[in-house]
Amino acid sequence: MKIISVIGSGTMGNGIAHVFAQYGYQVNLIDVNPDALQRALDTIGKNLDRMVSKGSITEETKSQTLKNLTTYTDLQSGVQHADLVIEAATENPAIKMKIFKDLGTFTSPETILATNTSSISITKIASVTKRQDQVIGMHFMNPVPMMKLVEIINGYKTSREVIEKVTSLAKAIGKIPAESNDYPGFIANRILMPMINEAIIALYEGVGDVEQIDTVMKLGMAHPMGPLQLADFIGLDVCLAIMNVLYDGFGNTKYAPSPLLVNMVTSGNLGAKSGEGFYKYTAGSKELVVSEQFSKLPSGRPATV
Ligand code: NAD
Repeated sequence: MKIISVIGSGTMGNGIAHVFAQYGYQVNLIDVNPDALQRALDTIGKNLDRMVSKGSITEETKSQTLKNLTTYTDLQSGVQHADLVIEAATENPAIKMKIFKDLGTFTSPETILATNTSSISITKIASVTKRQDQVIGMHFMNPVPMMKLVEIINGYKTSREVIEKVTSLAKAIGKIPAESNDYPGFIANRILMPMINEAIIALYEGVGDVEQIDTVMKLGMAHPMGPLQLADFIGLDVCLAIMNVLYDGFGNTKYAPSPLLVNMVTSGNLGAKSGEGFYKYTAGSKELVVSEQFSKLPSGRPATV
């Protein structure tokens, strides 16, 4: 495989494009929004500068990486010669279904079609194409240049040949692939999100406060950050959407999102990106400050009830 087209140049798309370009692939980065493409190039440039200053890549690798990148706002022009397309557009089923329907006609019959979705069924996305055997999930982790894992998700009809090609490709860009079948949440979010949701339920029930819950999980379980801080980093709206996928997909109340999570998202406290979630985020500050909403117990119910 030589030519990789990446659809969507946001947080994940720019990271995926960066890594493939750095490993010598020709990358076509596509976004409907020209400003997003410019922001992606700026981010990739800054990240490469940081890598040069740390000595992890040379100036020459940096300039070759930038030369390997071409941007497009038109989907057809950006994917027509691709060996592999990785869709990393907004997490919205209607947007992804439209893109995959178009990819069915805009790409050559051999092109593998991958999606970076966190939670939408690969089988469902594949069902709008006439080649379900060539559709697969490639779930990269944020930030893509740093994180080693790629969860490879096999749709119900994905062929073994496609799984093997994508697995080898992930290894070729320095990543470690792990295979998952296509069931709600795949492996990563099936396990991570109920843990985060349980931490929010523990807070809601007054079992512990924000700092106590995060400290126990950080120091006791050797997690790099506590579940509430991690939820803020991921985005509480994203956490809620994934819990709803698990709840709807399995029809089991053990996946019901915490009412506190629902309230926080409804009120606009979405975590780091909105400036406040379980913690309050002030530009430039690295200190963790618990949101005032939690300085008074309880936000939900007191532990004694
Ligand atoms: P984002 O909002 O940062 O970027 C999405 C980009 O897609 C935007 O620039 C938008 O303009 C573009 N876009 C929307 N519709 C498009 C279309 N029809 N054609 C081309 N571009 C289009 O989103 P993100 O966080 O990068 O997430 C992208 C995908 O990756 C989602 O499916 C998400 O679930 C998944 N994901 C996200 C993370 C994460 O931590 N952010 C982690 C793993 C997977």
